[in-house]
Amino acid sequence: MASPKAHEWILDLAAYVPGRAKVDGIEKTVKLSSNESVYGASPHAIEAYKDAADELMRYPDAGSNELREAIAEVYNLDADKIVCGAGSDDILTLLIHAYAGPGDEVIYSQYGFMVYPIQTQAVGATGIAIPNKNWAADVDGILEAVSEDTKLVFVDNPNNPTGAYLDWGEIERLHAGLRSDIILVLDAAYAECVTAEDYHAGEKLVESAENVIMTRTFSKMYALAGLRVGWAYGDPAIIDVLNRIRMPFNVCLPGQPAAVAAVKDQEHLKASIDFNTEWRDWLTANLVALGLDVVPSQTNFILIGFPEEAPFTAELAYEFLTKNGFLLRWLPGQGLASHLRLSVGTPEQNRAVVNLITEFMNGSPEASDE
Ligand SMILES: *Cc1c(COP(=O)(O)O)cnc(C)c1O
Repeated sequence: MASPKAHEWILDLAAYVPGRAKVDGIEKTVKLSSNESVYGASPHAIEAYKDAADELMRYPDAGSNELREAIAEVYNLDADKIVCGAGSDDILTLLIHAYAGPGDEVIYSQYGFMVYPIQTQAVGATGIAIPNKNWAADVDGILEAVSEDTKLVFVDNPNNPTGAYLDWGEIERLHAGLRSDIILVLDAAYAECVTAEDYHAGEKLVESAENVIMTRTFSKMYALAGLRVGWAYGDPAIIDVLNRIRMPFNVCLPGQPAAVAAVKDQEHLKASIDFNTEWRDWLTANLVALGLDVVPSQTNFILIGFPEEAPFTAELAYEFLTKNGFLLRWLPGQGLASHLRLSVGTPEQNRAVVNLITEFMNGSPEASDE
């Protein structure tokens, strides 16, 4: 008898590996592996979430209408060009499912967000990973890789896991070099953290071009990762396609009012941005002072390059930090074997992780094991 069979390309697929949250044998861990915002969500968002508890028997608003209106108002956008999702992962996934399939190509950076290659393979399309340039996307490399089969180009700007970014001129140059039937996806998950003045998230290009969509999230600086709320701003024809294939109730009932309250509390967002900038700079300066290679970051994490020689490698640092309960992200599978990604933590956590890395770089970390 025949057994059920998934598409063969799905059986080759390695599922997304999230940042570690626990280690066997260690009771208390400090999770700095998933770029969560330790500053926390707006108190108004938390209140709105709690208030929603009495309504949990109801389905949520299928159109996330209040949320789209609130986003449009705060960011000065057109609500009709916004679609909301269960995190921006939801929207990134839908874009690939709607526009790519077997025989099609999807382009992204080698060091880029893992959802792009995973979902590209999920639909049986071919992913083309372009080596990064100065840790950000390589515009010329991407343009050279475009073929007649290219359907989508993904740029996480700023980039995860490197923290680097492309300035607006480079984004415009990339767009200008793409055919009009190729969708440029500007994944601006970290837009709120950016302090560089020559950065723009992408709404300008959405207004002037039909093949651009910008994705955003409430998971990072708005600190609502657990609620899974994201959104995208794009050409009405693309938004229409996404509305056809998305789950009807994709943004959960408590998530909608919580995100509305979060986006309306720009004062809280600003405080959280200031906190992030201060500690991102502090971590960078302290780790550079140890002789480590830190990629200049525009996000809420930093990528730290370690020496190639034992006993100071990233792998050994990762083991040492893990033993001490500090969980960072090590991504050898993505070609980043000599780096660790560290999310900005609380002041106490930031000081402790720098102290541990200092101890590690100063010599015999084994000794502290006893
Ligand atoms: C975190 C992240 C996202 C999406 O997060 P959601 O929680 O699904 O909104 C998207 N892109 C990048 C580059 C990210 O780092």
